[in-house]
Amino acid sequence: MHDGGQLRLCVYCGSSPGRKPEYLDVASKLGVLMAAHNIELVYGGANVGLMGALANAILSHGGSAIGVLPKVIEEKEIAHPHLTKLYRVDTMHQRKEKMMSLADAVLALPGGLGTLEELFEALTWSQLQLHVMPCGILDIGDYYTPLLKFMEQGSEQGFVNTRVLAQLLVSHSPEAAIRGLFPHLSI
Ligand code: AMP
Repeated sequence: MHDGGQLRLCVYCGSSPGRKPEYLDVASKLGVLMAAHNIELVYGGANVGLMGALANAILSHGGSAIGVLPKVIEEKEIAHPHLTKLYRVDTMHQRKEKMMSLADAVLALPGGLGTLEELFEALTWSQLQLHVMPCGILDIGDYYTPLLKFMEQGSEQGFVNTRVLAQLLVSHSPEAAIRGLFPHLSI
């Protein structure tokens, strides 16, 4: 967890826009809400998909966005041109580590394999108590419902850590997500 003054939320989300318009819409609403409550965004730094929509929304509403982009994929994922700060790292592993080290909480929005990997790394690191940050899922359009069901089955079958699953904050709106992760804020 970072030790600076400003609250920071690490958001994992798709480098694609997804097929339902509500994915982009809710990602933008989250950005507006974060700007209004002075919560800095920490994310992968790209300008595409939900990642781009979220960063655009927060930056255009006076908030700040910190990007962490590995040099190896800089050609594929163009860096957002107006980031408050951009960290360039060497590897994908360094990216994930840097993103978590900068943040006070993590939140996954819909996304693909990259997002899932990032989410599961945050959850497994919590399981190992390598960090104590709250972790959440913003389940836009019930995208994550089958995965959550599967994880519950994993818990029932004695494989998935029950504590980590019980502590995972699942929400359906940006307001509920921020309230869950930062309960001391009045939202
Ligand atoms: P996706 O959810 O697949 O659209 O990817 C979302 C973000 O995760 C993008 O910035 C991807 O570059 C990133 N990503 C994909 N795979 C990995 C990985 N192995 N480690 C770290 N980030 C990744």
